[in-house]
Amino acid sequence: MKKGQINVKTENIFPIIKKFLYSEHEIFLRELVSNAVDATQKLKTLSRLGEFNGELGDLTIRIILDEEKKTLTIKDRGIGMSGEEVGKYINQIAFSGAEEFVEKFKEKSQSEVENMIGHFGLGFYSSFMVSDKAIIQTKSYRDGENDGPVQWECDGSPNYTLKDLKGEYERGTSIILHISDDSKEFLDEHRILGLLKKYCKFLPVPIQFGAEKTRVKKEGEKDKDGNDVYEEIESPRIINNTTPAWVRKPSELTEEDYMAFYHELYPMSWEEPLFHIHLNVDYPFNLTGILYFPKISDRLGVQKDKIQLYSNQVFVTDSLEGIVPDFLTLLHGVLDSPDIPLNVSRSYLQSDSEVKKINGHITKKVSDKLNEIFKNNREDFEKKWDDIKAFIEYGMISDEKFYDRSKIFALMKNIEGKYFTLEEYQGKVKDIQSDKDKNIVYLYTTNEKEQHAFIETAKERGYDVLVMDGILDQHFLNHLEMKEQLHFKRVDADVIEKLIQKEENIPSKLDDKEKEKLKPIFEKAAEESHLTVMFESLNEKDMPTLITRPEFMRRMKDMQEMSGGGGFGMFPDSMNLVINVNHPLISAILNEKDEEKQNRLAKQTVDLSLLSQGLLKGEALTTFIKRSVDLID
Ligand code: ADP
Ligand code: MG
Repeated sequence: MKKGQINVKTENIFPIIKKFLYSEHEIFLRELVSNAVDATQKLKTLSRLGEFNGELGDLTIRIILDEEKKTLTIKDRGIGMSGEEVGKYINQIAFSGAEEFVEKFKEKSQSEVENMIGHFGLGFYSSFMVSDKAIIQTKSYRDGENDGPVQWECDGSPNYTLKDLKGEYERGTSIILHISDDSKEFLDEHRILGLLKKYCKFLPVPIQFGAEKTRVKKEGEKDKDGNDVYEEIESPRIINNTTPAWVRKPSELTEEDYMAFYHELYPMSWEEPLFHIHLNVDYPFNLTGILYFPKISDRLGVQKDKIQLYSNQVFVTDSLEGIVPDFLTLLHGVLDSPDIPLNVSRSYLQSDSEVKKINGHITKKVSDKLNEIFKNNREDFEKKWDDIKAFIEYGMISDEKFYDRSKIFALMKNIEGKYFTLEEYQGKVKDIQSDKDKNIVYLYTTNEKEQHAFIETAKERGYDVLVMDGILDQHFLNHLEMKEQLHFKRVDADVIEKLIQKEENIPSKLDDKEKEKLKPIFEKAAEESHLTVMFESLNEKDMPTLITRPEFMRRMKDMQEMSGGGGFGMFPDSMNLVINVNHPLISAILNEKDEEKQNRLAKQTVDLSLLSQGLLKGEALTTFIKRSVDLID
């Protein structure tokens, strides 16, 4: 037996591993199983290359829990190690990294330490986060004189022992962890099963943990009542699907396969995604994966964090916040890249240049796919538009490149339910909706029902109105205005003649003196609703009075509400009462001699305008109805 000191000069590494290595101790299992998978894959490669000519046999990796002995064993039938290799790979390599790590650690903060971890091969040593003692029993695939089975043992101090093993040992490696008292949770079958399901669900080598019982029908046997007889059969419980859809060729997969895989990823989800993208890149970096476009409802926040990130089929994380652009986190699916380092912290990933390149690529693929559907199947694209538009708008607002690529297929819907790209729409309204300064005015509504009267007036003028009632539409429209120098105006922001100002002016039937006389009458009628009275010379067929909401103030208020409404009441609901001086009813009110009747008529007119926008409620509404009945009498 050989005794030795692990090659760390500086100081004891283990307390540091325990404290700093990973904030989540459970990661040790991922590390050890990945090592077992690596060792197995290496053997398969050697076999393929003809350098290993023995039987591969059953390569299943086994996880064995012994609650009594307080051990957890990870056993593989991969390449194994000779004594010399253990010295090289476990004692030296790992710790030469560790030593450097300790050196650097001295002057660094915890977050910096986490950033550095990716640079050191501390995978195996993460065992010491959860165990008092770790034992490696291993036998190399080679059958040389010095390739006999060996056992390495270390109790968490820098001292280890290495000895030859007597007796028959299979090729491969067993890592036997003596779980420490403060990590008892890892002796619980459910906990281990949960971890395996989390990290190992799609590993490329079968992984077995315990057994599972299944009820099977006994063929040709019936009980005395003629019913089928069942028996419980125990079979090894295999954790993983070794060939998940993303590692297969797109040409081998049907639409059903993609849907089935979606449900494998999200067993709790009953919704079908709208479409998918199969990513497959090998230059300048390796990236595979499948992204699904879910229906995006009005609750953007709820749907995030569904994409799972893998590195060579090993689960890394499903919280991609800050790693991929925020809008992409609305998608579902998997991304797999061996170029994304496994052992690293979030802040490391965020600053990693490979990750940035990968992001750029994904963003491009996503817009390419959307463009492809748009070009090849416009009808289908339009059908799905309402469900994906929040995603696209979010992307366009937050990502310059995505904006440029998506501009050509991003759609806008008008009140007739027709869809247009920005360019198409510009062409459609250019001639009719240009004002006297040659600016095209884009009219929109945020609520077709409430703004119905205004929409109708716009339609009578031959104008078109866009429907902008999605959660991000308001932001999107601000963004478009900024990027493309467009002018959007909500249909109820002003009277239509003001929204799109043309050359000609309609002459006013009332002079200034008459307006002065009307003003207090309407101010009184509008008192409770806090309306600002103003006069406009409109068409005599238009409404006698109108309630408008000035665009600027309304937007400020909307923005304030969306951003959480800090400084409550800063932007009051500012509304104007516009009096159409050319309407015969306004002249009638002006000329009414009976003062009480005059006030009643003014009030009735104002209430009608409020009513048409759903602003008349409660007591005001009851009073209005009573007054209407009286007026009919
Ligand atoms: P890494 O996997 O990043 O190389 P680890 O600390 O996880 O770092 O492992 C160190 C080395 O120990 C591996 O590169 C490998 O050579 C060897 N090793 C670890 N586990 C096994 C195993 N189960 N079978 C064979 N070799 C192993
Ligand atoms: Mg490793």
